[in-house]
Amino acid sequence: MTPLGREIARMIALDGPVTVERYMALCLSHPAHGYYMTRDPLGLEGDFVTAPEISQMFGELVGLWAAQVWLDIGAPSPFRLVEFGPGRGTLMADALRAVRAAPGFLEAVSVDLVETSPILTARQQATLAAATVPVRWLRDVSEVPDGPAIYLANEFFDALPIRQFVRAAGGWRERLVGLGGENGLAFGLAPDADPTITVSGREGATLEWQATGNAVMSDIARRIVSQGGAALAIDYGHLRSGLADTLQAIKNHAFTDVLAEPGEADVTAHVDFAQLGAAARAQGARVHGPTSQGAFLRAMGIDARAQALSTARPDRAAEIEAARMRLTGDGEEHMGALFKAIAVTAPDGPAPPGFDAVTG
Ligand code: SAH
Repeated sequence: MTPLGREIARMIALDGPVTVERYMALCLSHPAHGYYMTRDPLGLEGDFVTAPEISQMFGELVGLWAAQVWLDIGAPSPFRLVEFGPGRGTLMADALRAVRAAPGFLEAVSVDLVETSPILTARQQATLAAATVPVRWLRDVSEVPDGPAIYLANEFFDALPIRQFVRAAGGWRERLVGLGGENGLAFGLAPDADPTITVSGREGATLEWQATGNAVMSDIARRIVSQGGAALAIDYGHLRSGLADTLQAIKNHAFTDVLAEPGEADVTAHVDFAQLGAAARAQGARVHGPTSQGAFLRAMGIDARAQALSTARPDRAAEIEAARMRLTGDGEEHMGALFKAIAVTAPDGPAPPGFDAVTG
C-alpha cells in the first residue's frame, strides 16, 4: 500500500467509509501525499501529455481566441486573464505570444494563475519568468479580484473530485470507499438511498455529480454576467450526461486500478459538459458549444498555423503535422473528438471565435 493508502485506511477504520469525492480529493490534493502536490505529472517522462505540451499551436490558438474575445467585449483596460490549473505554464506562455495580434492587449492585461500545486507553481514561475505582463498566483477563483476577465481552463475540470451514485433497488446510493479487497480498499455503497435524486436509471447504473466543477463554473459564469468577460474550457468528456462510471486512474501513460495506488496515480473523471453548461446558464450566462476540440481548433485556424510553421521549419514539418493530427484527429489515439470545448459569455455577447457555427 502507498503511504496515502495507509492513511486513508486509518481514516476509514476510525470514521467509516469515505465518499468517492473525498477519496478523489485526498488522492489528488492531500497536502503531503496528494498526486499533484508531490510531482509534475506532465510530459513524456510523466504520466500523461496534455495539448499545450504536444504543440505550441494549441496555446497560440487559445491566445488568439482570448485576443478576439477581448476585442469583442470592447477591449476593456485593465482586465484579467485567468487560467485554472496551468500545468507547466506552457499554454499561457504560448498564448501571451499570440495575443500580440491584438494591439493594446498586453498593455491592458494582468495574468492570474489559479493553482494548488507548489511543484507546478514553481514550474510555471520558471516558464513565465520572462513574461512582460504582471503574473500572480492564486489558490482559488474566489481570490480573483473583481473586474472584466477572460477565463481559461484546459484539463482542469477533470481533475476535480466528483460524487458517484449507483442505482439500487431502493434508489440512488452514494458510492463509497471502505476497507477490503486485495489492495486494502474496496468500493461499497451507502446504506441508504439519497432521497433528493429523482433521475431514473436501471439498476446498477452510475450517476456522476461533479459538485466541485459545477461550483467553479457557476462562480465563473456569475462573474462574467456581472463584471464582463468570457470563459473557455477544454477537457476530456462527454456532451450529454450519461449513466456510466467514468472514474479512472492513469500512471505512466496507462490505466491502473483506481484504488491500487492512491497518491501515485492520476485519478480523473470525464467532464460532463451538460452539467457545466447548466451551471453557467443558471447564472444567466450564455453557453456556446460544447463542440469537439478538433472542430474548435480547425475553426481557430490550426491548419493554416501548421502550414506556416512547416514553411518556416521544413525540417520539422513531419513533427508539426503529427501534432496537428494528434490535437484534431477523430481516432481513439487522437484528441480531436474525445476532447470537447465549451465557451461562456454574457447573455448579450457575440458568439466567441471557434463557436460561430455551434452556438446553442
Ligand atoms: N492545464 C495544464 C495542466 C493540466 S493538469 C495543461 O493542459 O497542461 C491539471 C492542473 O490543475 C495542474 O496544474 C494541477 O496542479 C491543477 N489543479 C488540480 N486541482 C486543482 C485545484 N483544486 N485548484 C487549482 N488547480 C488545480
